[in-house]
Amino acid sequence: MKQFDYPDEVAAVLERLRSGGYEAYLVGGCVRDFLSGIRAKDHDIATSAKPEEVKGVFHDHTVIETGIKHGTVTVLSGGSPVEVTTFRTDGEYPDRRRPSEVSFTDSVVEDLSRRDFTVNAIAYSPESGLIDPFGGVDDLKSKIIRAVGDPEKRFSEDPLRILRGMRFASVTGFEVEDYTAKSMISSGHLLNFVSAERIGKEFTDMICGKAVEDVLLRFRDIVAVIIPELNGSFDHDQMNPHHCYDIYTHSVRTAAALPSEPVLRLAGLLHDIGKPETFSVGPDGVGHFYGHAKISAEITEKVCLRLKLDSYTVRMVTELVRRHDYMIEPEMKYIRRAVSKFGEDLFLKLMELKRADGLAADPGDPTKQDLITKLISLYEQMVEEDLCFKIGDLAINGDDLIAAGIPEGQRIGRLLDACLQAVISDELQNTHDVLISYAIIENQKNI
Ligand code: ATP
Ligand code: MG
Repeated sequence: MKQFDYPDEVAAVLERLRSGGYEAYLVGGCVRDFLSGIRAKDHDIATSAKPEEVKGVFHDHTVIETGIKHGTVTVLSGGSPVEVTTFRTDGEYPDRRRPSEVSFTDSVVEDLSRRDFTVNAIAYSPESGLIDPFGGVDDLKSKIIRAVGDPEKRFSEDPLRILRGMRFASVTGFEVEDYTAKSMISSGHLLNFVSAERIGKEFTDMICGKAVEDVLLRFRDIVAVIIPELNGSFDHDQMNPHHCYDIYTHSVRTAAALPSEPVLRLAGLLHDIGKPETFSVGPDGVGHFYGHAKISAEITEKVCLRLKLDSYTVRMVTELVRRHDYMIEPEMKYIRRAVSKFGEDLFLKLMELKRADGLAADPGDPTKQDLITKLISLYEQMVEEDLCFKIGDLAINGDDLIAAGIPEGQRIGRLLDACLQAVISDELQNTHDVLISYAIIENQKNI
């Protein structure tokens, strides 16, 4: 095995605990990631020392009692925080959220047995090498997610593990072992007992994974527990020549075709969530979904708020869904108008969503892709030529209007906006004198 490579501050904590007479191991995500050749984002240590003993060993360090009830303290080692958790066996989970009590144990194997998946239940120390009682190393090699112990029991103790399983499968591209997968699906309803914050966070991480398409399709019954509003999309034939997939499959493929970013992936999954409600069939037998973007946006906002996503995410996902069918002609003035209306962030994300939506609708039709490519290149030209698309880009500001004799007040904002619209439509040049004269005339018209 390649030398296990971790920061000196982490090595120092392991060594201090060991020379104090305690066992200490790296555990969980960092061991999994190291064995997979991925750089770990943090390093968790498990030890036989009780929390008070850890504090004693590090009496000359800053120790923060981050989760002392659950046996976790954070040691500041060489300026870096390192989490140290006492070996535990979790007690009962009466509310299916957190263990009601934790008991500490001297056995690292017992500590590993309370962990969720075999690939997360491997410990390592420089003295003992890998400790792998549940075959995690083999599962890592075979790229398998498998529950530690009896999956049904483990998922009913803490149903969040169901979603963690989906998250790991999506992020790593590993296959969920059959019995574990069946138990995830049959226990999925228990996610109703888990707090919205925990679900929202795992769901967001899951949807950003590279294998999101497989995971959302295989575990759609679990998705429906979290977002029951998607139920009507399952197997819903669109009866439309532009669509070769049912609504849900199309939505999943849209999400998967987007860059791995929460706002975009969520918008992809939810953009047609209102379609079943608006479905109608024309006299020619073709399916239509009139007004579905608006209804989809309303449902999307409810879903995002329920999952307690942050306010930027709620706003952006909802706006993207609301605008996903907005038509923009490939002409500079329409691009400038759209960027002015939406702002650059939303405009660029909208282009991504439209591209993915087109790809997932009818992968054989290149016309939509060509249109998006054209729109983006016009946008790039607009930026390149420094063309005006917002009030701040105008050659005048409010003070110039006041200096020209227009009284202060709301009118100033309206006049600046009128100037902007005229500049965007190429009716006016963006120069000081032209805009001031235009504003004075407009002002007189409206008195
Ligand atoms: P990431 O790389 O995303 O941080 P991770 O595996 O480190 O993944 P954490 O949430 O940081 O995930 O948890 C650290 C370890 O604690 C896990 O590897 C697993 O061993 C254990 N663990 C975390 N949550 C649970 C849970 N709900 N049930 C059982 N074990 C858990
Ligand atoms: Mg971690």
